[in-house]
Amino acid sequence: MQRDIFSEEHDLFRQQFRRFAETELEPQIERWNSEGRTDPATWRRCGEEGFLGATAPEEYGGADADFLYDAIIMEEVARIRAHGLMLSLHNNICRPYLEAYGSEDQKQRFLTGAITGETILAIAMTEPGTGSDLANVQTRAIRDGDHYVVNGAKTFISNGQIANLVIVVAKTDPDANPPHNGISLLLVEADTPGFERGRNLPKLGLKGQDTSELFFRDCRVPVENVLGEEGQGFKQLMQQLQQERLCIAVASIASCRRSLDDTIDYVKERRAFGQPIAGFQNTQFKLAELAADVEAGQAFVDKLLAAHVRGEDIVTEVSMAKFWTTDLQKKVAAECLQLHGGYGFMLEYPIAHDYADAAVQSIYAGTNEIMKVIIARRLGLDSR
Ligand SMILES: Cc1cc2nc3c(=O)[nH]c(=O)nc-3n(C[C@H](O)[C@H](O)[C@H](O)COP(=O)(O)OP(=O)(O)OC[C@H]3O[C@@H](n4cnc5c(N)ncnc54)[C@H](O)[C@@H]3O)c2cc1C
Repeated sequence: MQRDIFSEEHDLFRQQFRRFAETELEPQIERWNSEGRTDPATWRRCGEEGFLGATAPEEYGGADADFLYDAIIMEEVARIRAHGLMLSLHNNICRPYLEAYGSEDQKQRFLTGAITGETILAIAMTEPGTGSDLANVQTRAIRDGDHYVVNGAKTFISNGQIANLVIVVAKTDPDANPPHNGISLLLVEADTPGFERGRNLPKLGLKGQDTSELFFRDCRVPVENVLGEEGQGFKQLMQQLQQERLCIAVASIASCRRSLDDTIDYVKERRAFGQPIAGFQNTQFKLAELAADVEAGQAFVDKLLAAHVRGEDIVTEVSMAKFWTTDLQKKVAAECLQLHGGYGFMLEYPIAHDYADAAVQSIYAGTNEIMKVIIARRLGLDSR
């Protein structure tokens, strides 16, 4: 079905990005998957081509375009399965913090580099003992003259090995009541003494993406690196989560489409009992059902994309889309794998990777259970 949220300019941009993705990104995916990370040269190429600043302000080198341009990048990255290259983490999850809360000095020092690709961004919220319960982070940033002294540990941080600027969630007032009032966001440059990268964690899927431990040991961060005001960190995080979760939903539906398209091709080729397996009613019904789910999901996501571009508060609906599309992605990957038979279990077949990559979608950016907690609260079901 023709999607009606994109203009002719968007379509041209898609063609341009697709050409770049197929010629410059796709040939590298296997290497990224085996090395467990992407490389700075690719980030700089993305910057040179303008793909790290489509939605960034013009005065810092961006194109000031609408969010749909970045949604196109997300869809095309998912289409070629370049999940290791987390452009949306950089463009749409981290960079907006610099744009929304950064001082002029911080923008000059970091935002311009994020747009050229010299500066690779990460955000460090999760800790070994604290994930969903973000207000309970234990990393401390205690003021000492014109510095904060940061101590603590983070884990599961995407881009953790390659980032040179990390937005760190830390307690600047550990005694604040309620605790979330004591949280601030600090910009930690990777060459700061006391900042250390731990292991690049081995994982089930997203093989080309570095997911790491980070450690802070008496790491002295200048006060001018606080993002916005001290104590505002939790509020800032909540303000940015709508977009983060929408990104996941956009990529999920695009991944569903890719799994489905490949499986439709496969069942037409593969033969059993003297006919293509596409001829069995089970195959037809399964794929018809999945195609219907994907169309419904796409319609919902497109509606949310349009509302997000208009600047509407759609936190409830985006939370719905995040859990629904990521659950769908897991279902599509599992059903499509089954239709591949034994080949579906072989890593030579992309559907096996789709199955592994889908698993994390319901976990990060707020687990799907947390999405339901948010929705229930917004439906007035929270008794507290
Ligand atoms: C590949 C990958 C990349 C990641 N990238 C980043 C990153 O870049 N930056 C970052 O900061 N973090 C990142 N994360 C961490 C991710 O955001 C957390 O794993 C996630 O928020 C869940 O936290 P947790 O793992 O501590 O699980 P927990 O919070 O311990 O949750 C465990 C289970 O309990 C459930 N649960 C918890 N609280 C409730 C509740 N109130 N009601 C019902 N159920 C509940 C959860 O839904 C889950 O099923 C990444 C994780 C992965 C796997």
